[in-house]
Amino acid sequence: MKIFDEVESDVASYARSFPRVFNKAQGEFMYDTEGREYLDFLGGAGTLNYGHNNPKLKEALIEYIHADGITHGLDLHTTAKADFLDTFREKILRPRNMDYIVQFTGPTGTNACEAAIKIARNVTGREGIVAFTNGFHGVTLGSLAATGNSHHRGAAGTSLGGVHRAPFDGYLGDGIDTTAYLDKVLSDSSSGFDHPAAVIVETVQGEGGINCASMEWLRNLSEVCQRHEVLLILDDIQAGCGRTGSFFSFEEAGIYPDIVTLSKSLSGYGLPFAVVLMKPEHDQWRPGEHNGTFRGNNQAFVTARAAIDHFWSDDSFALDVQRKGRYVAERLQAIVDKFGEGNLTSRGRGLMQGLNCVSGELAEAITKRAFKKGLIIETSGAEDQVIKTLCPLIISDESLKRGLDILEECVAEVLAGDAVVPEEKDYFGERESAPTTPTAAA
Ligand SMILES: *Cc1c(COP(=O)(O)O)cnc(C)c1O
Repeated sequence: MKIFDEVESDVASYARSFPRVFNKAQGEFMYDTEGREYLDFLGGAGTLNYGHNNPKLKEALIEYIHADGITHGLDLHTTAKADFLDTFREKILRPRNMDYIVQFTGPTGTNACEAAIKIARNVTGREGIVAFTNGFHGVTLGSLAATGNSHHRGAAGTSLGGVHRAPFDGYLGDGIDTTAYLDKVLSDSSSGFDHPAAVIVETVQGEGGINCASMEWLRNLSEVCQRHEVLLILDDIQAGCGRTGSFFSFEEAGIYPDIVTLSKSLSGYGLPFAVVLMKPEHDQWRPGEHNGTFRGNNQAFVTARAAIDHFWSDDSFALDVQRKGRYVAERLQAIVDKFGEGNLTSRGRGLMQGLNCVSGELAEAITKRAFKKGLIIETSGAEDQVIKTLCPLIISDESLKRGLDILEECVAEVLAGDAVVPEEKDYFGERESAPTTPTAAA
């Protein structure tokens, strides 16, 4: 569309993969201005775990706006903030035996990571941060230094210091516990590895290609950190909020990181919101040392609280995500078995699953074709070689099946050498259900 070409910066990226103008969304569906329906397996890159415009959250938000609730209040005490903190403590932290202080940062994931890194440096009086191969923590300079991807790092235009890189779980092949390396260099005063302030890690590397750390590796990492008095920062921005089948992605490992960052699906509604959770002894901030005009987005407090009340009052939602996750894993494995020829592989946890196509070109051909058939799905990894399924967790079984059917069809067609990308009109005509416009109450 002309206005975007003329006025918007070339920096936009998702818009290139999905060049349509979208004007409506509900649940797992998006609609463009021509009335076409798309199944959303991108889910705001993990921001829309409860779907687009979730009715329960929307209701709470509209009610709050109608009552002239506080929209912006810097970090002032508000009832919306009190209610969020209360619900977060009672339904998320306490049932998991987590005694953590909540810091509201600027409302982006990268700002939460910046704050986490700053606390760790201030608390320990040390500078170094250990980050992992293929890790992604955001694109502001502190977080970017911890990010592995050279495309993102290259845009910094300045040196990115203060970070040591270590191999993530599986980086050196199966059966090699890479935490042993960290343990060794931290034990050896001549390793050339200055004693760091913290280690920052994702349990499943979302942008890095759905690389999953095993629970044993996470436990070993936590032990290595404790042994060497290095803080463990767990970046749960993408894998958290239910994506892997539990609220926090590290629960199954039984570890208690010193610091946890959350953002993406925390507001539940796609509203900007980020927090840092830290063990009370690490909350050594002096007033205002880390601030941000939009820290504490009150409308996000309202939807985040509604999301926790609605989805996390018992374990039924988590169990349902686990069930759907097993189904996706089975379907991807079936695609690998059927078409892989030893090349394709699948990996993931919960509803954070990936199909590794090894080649970025192959992955792109498949996702491009999928888009023509009404499925929005993206790739990640160093070469964009991993197709990742990040559908909303509330997706219906029928839609989940339909999305995976489309994916399988596209893999088959692309591997069969069908290089011609189909015109979308051919396909939309063939769909069982005609595109519908969602009703407000849907
Ligand atoms: C998306 C993401 C970030 C950065 O969040 P922004 O809101 O884009 O700044 C940081 N860490 C992880 C693991 C992410 O997935």
